Order: sequence, then C-alpha cells, then structure tokens
Amino acid sequence: MPVNFEDADPVALARDFLAFQKELGVEVVPLASAATLHTDLPEEVSEPEPDPQPEIDTDPLAAFESVVITCRGCTLCEARNHVVFGSGNPTADVMFIGEAPGREEDLQGVPFVGAAGELLTKMITGIKLNREDVYIANVIKCRPPGNRDPQSDEIDSCEPHLMKQIELIQPTVICTLGRFAAQTLLKSTTSMGRLRGKIYSYNGIKLIPTYHPAALLRNPQWKRPTWEDLKLLRYEYDGMEL
Ligand code: URA
Repeated sequence: MPVNFEDADPVALARDFLAFQKELGVEVVPLASAATLHTDLPEEVSEPEPDPQPEIDTDPLAAFESVVITCRGCTLCEARNHVVFGSGNPTADVMFIGEAPGREEDLQGVPFVGAAGELLTKMITGIKLNREDVYIANVIKCRPPGNRDPQSDEIDSCEPHLMKQIELIQPTVICTLGRFAAQTLLKSTTSMGRLRGKIYSYNGIKLIPTYHPAALLRNPQWKRPTWEDLKLLRYEYDGMEL
C-alpha cells in the first residue's frame, strides 16, 4: 500500500526505515552532520542588503559646482555668505558673464538678482530670450567686500573656475558685461567704449562685449549702444534680426 509521506508521522517513518535497514542486515546507520543536513535544506538565507550608494552627480556642471562652493583659493572666502557659481541652462548656447557678486547675490547665492540683475533680465527678454534659456555667471565667484574691484590674485585664483565652467557649458556666444569681464577674458587693457561693437573669439567661441547693467543705470546714454550689441548677439546666436 502506497505511503503518503506528507501526512505520515516522521518519527514512525524513521522507525520503519531503521527496522527495514536492520532486516537488510545494516547494523549502523551514520548520522548526518548538522552541516550536511543544512546543505540539503532549501536556501532561505537572503542576501544582505547592499549599503546605500552615496548620491553621485551625473551632471558634470553640478558636480563641478559642488567642488567650487568649497573653494578657499583666496581671502574672499572668509567674508562670503555664498559662492555665487552661476545659474541658468547648463547647456545654454548664450552665456552672460559679469564681474563679481554684489551684496544681494552673496546673500542669495544667485548671480544678478539685485537692481542690475533686474535690468539684465530685461536685456535678455528684450532679445526674445528668457533667463532660463541662457547661463549667467561672473568672473569672480565670491563678493569683494564693499563691492570693491577684484584684485589680481583673486582673479588668478577664480578665473580657472570660469574657464572650466565655459568648457562644460560650451556656449556658442558669450556676452561679457562691463569692462572687467571683457578685459579679463580678452587679456586686454582697452577701454569698454573701444572694445564694444565688435565680435571677438574666446577659445573659438564668439565673444561680444557690452556695458554692465549697473553702469547703464548710472549712464543711460549707454543704453542705445548696448541695444546694438544685444541685437548683434541675437543675430550671431541664431540669425534673428531684431
Ligand atoms: N554685478 C555683477 O557683475 N554680477 C552680479 O552677479 C551682480 C552684480
């Protein structure tokens, strides 16, 4: 009669099995070791959970920003509230470059958010672009105390950050805002009035210098030539005539 092993009493089964072995002349039945027994059991031990991976920035510009915000390359780091790295589209075709953060920018960590920033936003929308379409940065990433001009050691320490930023963004046109940015990128000492109105090359990228929006607030007569420069910028970007 067939035995249903699932319902059978295991002790009774073992006893019957041993009695049968004895009938066959088997005197000694070796005991299986605990280790052997366990290898016959189904694997129920689950794999240990892997350690959570630290979040890695896959956006190279964001990864670079996380390095720059820890910079202590010059004394401007001592009084800053924020490193003002830059803002906007990380793959923008058009990049605006100013001088250095002011008080409001230092507090917020965002470039061009004060009065000059408001005018820059109007300049950008004037050429039918949005702030979110372009990228905005400064030559110097930390506020010089009292908004003084940046010093040569501060420029030497900060300029490589800007160069790397440009390399990562790869704009097709750069618009420098004010004498300081134009002279730094073009390695020139020529005045703003003489530099503007022309197209230059910065490592193969078109560079169009114009007046700084803060200077325009003090010198409204420069608004017309600035508008000419901005129209040139738009034309050089995508051929649009304004
Ligand atoms: N002036 C600049 O050059 N940059 C800013 O971010 C703000 C004011």
